[in-house]
Amino acid sequence: MSSAVDLRRSLLRLDGRGYKNYQSLKGIYDFSDFTVFIDHIQGDPFAPPSRIRIRVPQKKAGFPKNLYDSPSREVGLRDYLARQVEIAIKKYSQGRRGIGKSGLIYIPSPGQEILERSSIIINQEFVEARLAIGFPAYGRRIAARQAEAIFFEELPRLVDNSLFWSRLNTREVFNHVNTNEDADYLRSRLDELGLVAFVADGALLPRASGVDPRPLSKGKVVLFESPPSLRVKIDLPHHGSLTGMGLPRGVTLIVGGGYHGKSTLLQALAMGVYNHIPGDGREFVVTNSKAVKIRAEDGRRIERVNISPFISNLPFEQTTESFSTDDASGSTSQAANIIEALEVGAEVLLIDEDTSATNFMIRDHRMQELVSKDKEPITPFIDKIRLLFKDYGVSTVLVLGGSGDYFDVADLVICLVEYCPHDVTAQAKEITQKYPTARKPEGGQSFGHLIPRIPLPHGIDPQRGKKRVKIKADGLESIVFGYQEIDLSAVEQVVDKGQVRALGDAVFYARKFMDGERTMAEVIAKVAEEMKEKGLDVLSLFPHGEYVFFRPLELAAALNRLRTLLCQSKK
Ligand code: ADP
Ligand code: MG
Repeated sequence: MSSAVDLRRSLLRLDGRGYKNYQSLKGIYDFSDFTVFIDHIQGDPFAPPSRIRIRVPQKKAGFPKNLYDSPSREVGLRDYLARQVEIAIKKYSQGRRGIGKSGLIYIPSPGQEILERSSIIINQEFVEARLAIGFPAYGRRIAARQAEAIFFEELPRLVDNSLFWSRLNTREVFNHVNTNEDADYLRSRLDELGLVAFVADGALLPRASGVDPRPLSKGKVVLFESPPSLRVKIDLPHHGSLTGMGLPRGVTLIVGGGYHGKSTLLQALAMGVYNHIPGDGREFVVTNSKAVKIRAEDGRRIERVNISPFISNLPFEQTTESFSTDDASGSTSQAANIIEALEVGAEVLLIDEDTSATNFMIRDHRMQELVSKDKEPITPFIDKIRLLFKDYGVSTVLVLGGSGDYFDVADLVICLVEYCPHDVTAQAKEITQKYPTARKPEGGQSFGHLIPRIPLPHGIDPQRGKKRVKIKADGLESIVFGYQEIDLSAVEQVVDKGQVRALGDAVFYARKFMDGERTMAEVIAKVAEEMKEKGLDVLSLFPHGEYVFFRPLELAAALNRLRTLLCQSKK
């Protein structure tokens, strides 16, 4: 290891020289209170910034063990520190100076969710922050004085203010970590309570806007209040006893007038697979971790999916047990989205009429009379929703204001009136007696069998011609994968750019488990297992701070949207 003095000396010697000479600084430097690893240095001032790690030994950092002695607490603490480092960067970094990314210091910006982030590592030996730095230049020449200021003034200050226990707000850190642990605890209790979700009384569900996930604060905001019949009480390890709405397993319908908060509630359930930061309003809104938001997604590709439970007898005898298309319709895409989710273990489906294909959801009596079953390939979801629960134990929460035919198949009907939920199951059942639907069930006796698929390795190619692997995350919506682009815009439970970044590399990583025998579910499980054992770093050749945890379900979603994916149906 070299000393900080060595770094300063080498740096100043490089002043005014060509940018490439920065490469000689790669190495490990002892800054007495911490160690700086310069892992990767950018080739020019406009390239992705250089990667460094800052490691503070626990002897000096002094974090109490009980802040990271369980997976849940460790994730909470790491998430908290990532936020503190970001705040410290804003405070102590002068920001850009010179051309390109010169002078910028970055840590990926966390949003409303508490998630495992590779930007912070903590264990009994050390706490480590992984940053990116734009090594400064003027006209492609090394600006050594500027670099000196970054390494010897800004970094020490920001490290001092974010990675030492003694400098942090004790109450705030514990609250963050405890909140994360409580949310995990809540979610872990759902199964034994027979619930698929819990929404705490007092929760604040609506968001600031369609593009701003922070809590709504303008105007009148109605806090959540459970209907008495659904209220359950749960004791949390830290925040004491809590009451809220328990959504039971089975088929739940959320109805109510337009603009009365149906989609907002469903969206909160979809986000309830993640934990939220204190102050978010959804800290104690949790959903079964295998809940999947399902929607129509016309135009997507489908590779050999058995959509026959929903769609059969296509014109010209196209098979639907192993159905492929480069351009799915609304209904076929929604059917495929469901089957693919089941394939990798989904336990709850969350469906909103706003983003569903109408002909997939319902076929009413009059339409049945006009277009007979043998002329309609689609078996609507209404005729499969109960069988899905009966045969596979998969629950559905469905937002639907448009069709009362669903009253027949629901276990529970919740009506939102001015954002306030009411249990109207009894009334809905009364109505089914009073006004029987004349529609004929079309779903048969069983949901239908699922045919596992075997993904093939040669369908996964992230290379661009002879050039090296190119995998790039572009915001939340897409991954550049070789010549392909994986469109994630309909995969709604991807919430962080770092997840997209990790998913791109995980699609490639998954290839090594594709041996022509393992099924999709087995391949995905392998990746999840490795990540659990070795952390997010397993996805990359070198450690960096840009990954954020994702669920196996989203990895499957990304793979399924790679347009070159090739599968075989398992015999
Ligand atoms: P629906 O799906 O029933 O048509 P939405 O869930 O889209 O209704 O909600 C309509 C509007 O009401 C949205 O702008 C949303 O932000 C707002 N909203 C939802 N829930 C609440 C609430 N509890 N308090 C205040 N505003 C809310
Ligand atoms: Mg809606």
